[in-house]
Amino acid sequence: MQKEKWVLCPVCGNKTRVKVREDTVLLNFPLYCPKCKHESLIDAENLVLAVHKHGEDNA
Ligand SMILES: [Zn+2]
Repeated sequence: MQKEKWVLCPVCGNKTRVKVREDTVLLNFPLYCPKCKHESLIDAENLVLAVHKHGEDNA
């Protein structure tokens, strides 16, 4: 069975509706938080998340 975990909002720390598995790879994924309604750009690989800085890649 694959390991998976919920992605937490980098702004407010709330659980989002997005899960990643250990074989999930995300690049510049727009993560939307239903709680604080912020969208954050994230990368994910091997269950490790990286958050892009605000204002980056927003063209
Ligand atoms: Zn949030």
